Amino acid sequence: MQLIYEKSIPGRRGIKLPTSDVPAASALPQALLRQEAAGLAELSELDLVRHFTNLSRRNFSVDTNFYPLGSCTMKYNAKVLENSAALFAPFHPMTALLPGGEEFCQGTLGMLYDLGQMLSDITGMDEVTTQPLAGAHGEMTGILLIAAYHAAKGNKSKKKYVVVPDSSHGTNPASAAIAGYEIITVPTAPYGDMDLELFKKAMNDEVAAVMMTCPNTLGLFNPHIKEISDIAHSHDALMYYDGANLNAIMGKVKPGDVGFDVVHVNLHKTFGTPHGGGGPGAGPVGVKEVLIPFLPQPRIVMEDDGKLMLENSNPCTIGRTAGFFGNFGVMAKAYAYIIMLGREGLIQVSEQAVLNANYIKERLKPYYDLPYDMTCMHECVFSASRQLKHGVHAIDIAKYLIDRGYHPPTVYFPMIVKDAIMIEPTETESKVTMDEFIEVMIEAAKTAEDNPQALLDAPLTMPISRLDETKAAREQNVCCQW
Ligand SMILES: *Cc1c(COP(=O)(O)O)cnc(C)c1O
Repeated sequence: MQLIYEKSIPGRRGIKLPTSDVPAASALPQALLRQEAAGLAELSELDLVRHFTNLSRRNFSVDTNFYPLGSCTMKYNAKVLENSAALFAPFHPMTALLPGGEEFCQGTLGMLYDLGQMLSDITGMDEVTTQPLAGAHGEMTGILLIAAYHAAKGNKSKKKYVVVPDSSHGTNPASAAIAGYEIITVPTAPYGDMDLELFKKAMNDEVAAVMMTCPNTLGLFNPHIKEISDIAHSHDALMYYDGANLNAIMGKVKPGDVGFDVVHVNLHKTFGTPHGGGGPGAGPVGVKEVLIPFLPQPRIVMEDDGKLMLENSNPCTIGRTAGFFGNFGVMAKAYAYIIMLGREGLIQVSEQAVLNANYIKERLKPYYDLPYDMTCMHECVFSASRQLKHGVHAIDIAKYLIDRGYHPPTVYFPMIVKDAIMIEPTETESKVTMDEFIEVMIEAAKTAEDNPQALLDAPLTMPISRLDETKAAREQNVCCQW
């Protein structure tokens, strides 16, 4: 496929601009004036439409294909939600931050304030900051809040460790390490959750926090959370809840009710914005009351007369973690999403997401190894170990699915499962779609036995077949001639 610049034909135009009625500037220094034309591609509107439409068709998206990428919650997000983000587009983000600017922004601040209240309610927290721009950014913000809490108690040097189960998302230990902590990893027991006895041994007064992904990356919800958080608190360690996958538990359990002190949620998974695809995200962080003094500023606070003001004068704050109030458009979509569904709707979302994952798990169980065979939450994790005997790896099954029109599930993650295949259907897929996918997965398992080479050769329908994935990320060449 040609690059857009290679399609350029001098003089061809997609738009016609009116003649300029602005006088030519004379004061600009000669050195700053452009001597040559900018070299932009010259194309008709139709050329351009075809170019980008064809490019987009070389990609997978939720709008075109089933996308069961585990841990990413690739659900369909209603297009109407984009309208709510567009509503706010005319407002300049500086307005509220100018002296007295709150007066002009009561509606905008009100949306943020209400969203914070609704997320607090959903997570069982006392206040939410919307600043963090992604899940991992929320984690770092949360751990910095915990560090500030310990520092304020005079325990900064005493608290050295963050305890993380090995079934946590990889960003958890990474965020804690970036915030300056050493990591203690607790292995998973055969029952699929953090080994409780080993956890007890790992705990001591030098632990600053216990960070848990719930449900964990095996798609399982830890039934011992209350006990774990009681033990953590007895050592003055705070409990961090990675709520990136809140899709499994909304309206069913509030992390704040079972002992968690901090939680981040990924609005760009559960609440109306797609995850992946390089678009903006948002990882708001909710905290219990003890952590409110350390929250990033400005905080939006409501005065007695109901007016919303920005609070900027707290000496204990960890400071800003992002510009303005975070990715505002994502917040507007989350707000509309929550309002649109309401309490009952959110409960239905998680029930359907969990039901769908269990349906796929039960139907594929006869064909793929299921290392942790129990009721799962929003996703199920198989192992390709049975197919390995025929020389077929998880990656080969993934590539085969591409040929059959499916985005592959997450593979090789979580790392505690050999050749993992992690499937998350989400609540927005119909039984018909899941049944078709299940048939193709069964076909892949049979092909692994009868004709493994067919899987090793896949994909055959794509412009390029297999990339050296490490090299492709480090030596990008997006100009290759397909
Ligand atoms: C996606 C995810 C994250 C990271 O979120 P980003 O927005 O990609 O930084 C963290 N934890 C879990 C469990 C996730 O699924």
